[in-house]
Amino acid sequence: MNSFSYTRAADVASALRVIAAEPTAKFIAGGTNLVDLMKENVEHPTRLVDITHLPLAEIQRTKEGRLRIGALVTNTDVAYNEVVERDYPLLSQAILHGASAQLRNMASVGGNLMQRTRCSYFYDTATPCNKRTPGAGCSAFEGFNRYHAILGASEHCIATNPSDMSVALLALDAIVLVVGPSGERSIPIGEFHRLPGETPQIDTNLKADEMITAVDLPDRGFAKHYAYLKVRDRTSYAFALVSVAAALEMNDGRISEARLALGSVAHKPWRRKEAEALLNGKPAARESFQKAAEALLEGARGFGHNDFKIELAKRGVVRALTQAAGLER
Ligand code: SF4
Repeated sequence: MNSFSYTRAADVASALRVIAAEPTAKFIAGGTNLVDLMKENVEHPTRLVDITHLPLAEIQRTKEGRLRIGALVTNTDVAYNEVVERDYPLLSQAILHGASAQLRNMASVGGNLMQRTRCSYFYDTATPCNKRTPGAGCSAFEGFNRYHAILGASEHCIATNPSDMSVALLALDAIVLVVGPSGERSIPIGEFHRLPGETPQIDTNLKADEMITAVDLPDRGFAKHYAYLKVRDRTSYAFALVSVAAALEMNDGRISEARLALGSVAHKPWRRKEAEALLNGKPAARESFQKAAEALLEGARGFGHNDFKIELAKRGVVRALTQAAGLER
């Protein structure tokens, strides 16, 4: 491991000042991804700015009725929070499908949003990887790509975003609150993560000198009709091949509003409102679920080992919608 300096930030302003003065420094909270990346020689921060003592670990209602989850709330504390379990059970379920209990106890909301891909070539510094070394090439393109993207990929990178939490946040229309030298701003979750394009080394639209302070959930949590489905190679402590967050508002067996998001299929959690629109006003039935699945996966492309994920994702969508509608448990 390379040597680095350590600073414990006393407040948000001083944390931002340190990062602005030393652009090769990084914030650290739970460290469940960053420390691994440092051990694997993928990340080389010259300084770690410990933000764990900042006052960003509360969950509270805003006066507008949104639920504000501080960036330093642990994944466990979000998943088992009384209000989240009652009003946003989709989020609770998604988080509990992620990682292990020990990791969830350490991992923060902000860190979960910032976690990097689990592409094995990204972690293997003996192989070319455009995300690690721009311009080096992509080993996954013609390599072992079972876990890789089927949507939104580019010739430069076919990695996926591994987060479960972010998939539920996307379905719930969450807003990411950030602060930087120019003040505070809000980023809709759908615009927070990026597709790889020609710059796969950049995962998010958070600027290098900004910090995530909280995530806001709208007041509507789809608490009656929801499902989080995660398909993986083993039943626990594994990243998804495909995950699906489905949330419905229903009246007399008809869908009045649908939300659908996919995880582990693209460089960012994947949502297409055209697919959801196909469900609005329709009876909850397999035929309309299938149409929505086809629309959500439109343009999907496999790279050999992961071709099966296209059909798997479609079946996952139908299954998750079936469960959300209460037609199957
Ligand atoms: Fe690197 Fe992306 Fe290719 Fe994986 S898919 S080797 S992360 S460039």
